[in-house]
Order: sequence, then C-alpha cells, then structure tokens
Amino acid sequence: MMLLPAALASELRQVLAAAYPHEGCGLLVGRRQDERVEVTSLAPSANLAADPAHRFEIDPALRLRLQKELRDSEQDIVGLYHSHPDGPAAPSATDQRMAWEPDLIWLIAAVRADGVAAFRAYRLADTDGNFKEIALAQAAPTAPGGPADGGVETP
Ligand SMILES: [Zn+2]
Repeated sequence: MMLLPAALASELRQVLAAAYPHEGCGLLVGRRQDERVEVTSLAPSANLAADPAHRFEIDPALRLRLQKELRDSEQDIVGLYHSHPDGPAAPSATDQRMAWEPDLIWLIAAVRADGVAAFRAYRLADTDGNFKEIALAQAAPTAPGGPADGGVETP
C-alpha cells in the first residue's frame, strides 16, 4: 500500500489543479518498507510533452538530480504522479505503453476545472504494461519524535 500524508495530498491537489487543463506530473520521493511505501516529499516536474493537455513527460534531469541527492539517504524515488484533465484516475493506453519499471508506483489523479476529483495508485502487474491498483491511504504524517499534532491516541 502507499501512504500519502495529508499535507502532501493537499500539496499535490494544488499542483495538479494549477496545471489544469494540462497534465501535471512529477516524482514521488519516499521510503519503502516491505510492501508499504510512504511518500515523504513531492518533486514536481515541468511537463515536457509536446502535447501537454494529453500527454506527460517528466524532466529526466529532475530524476537524475534526485537520484544523486538521495543516493546516501534512506529515501528513494518510489513513484511518479500525473493527472488526467477531465479524465479518469486510471492508466490510459498510453500510460500502459510507457510503463516499464515495476518498482515505481503510478499515482494518477482525475482533475476537473474545480480541482482534483480522485487519486488512485497503481503498480505494474506484469511485463505487458498491465497495471493493478494498490491501496492508497491518505493519513496524517508520522512524526519521528512522537504523535502527530492534534493526535488523540492514548497509549
Ligand atoms: Zn496518463
């Protein structure tokens, strides 16, 4: 499952709403723990596609720079995100053709003129470009030093 902290979900909503009616895109930085992937930051990219209303292309220089920055850290590029303006939060035929990295989670957003309508997360299920949906939890961030602000949990 993928954990997207609430603060990052709202940041993502803003970024993708701002890109509308073009597709917005970027990389997801986070931590992997077995089957659980926690997103820790977003790396928005310019959409370099020639037809940005219908396609997206993440800046390869952004990816190289991030890989270098993250080399000695516990974090890694765990996925990518992009939006479908006036489309569904599901992989398109183009997305299926473009996907080849089984380790990357694809976060896809359906965006309307009034903002993001839905997020869904996918991962490649095979080498033919078929995706399967994975659970996406939007939660308050887990602070390393203790409970999150406003937490009501008792030990
Ligand atoms: Zn797409």
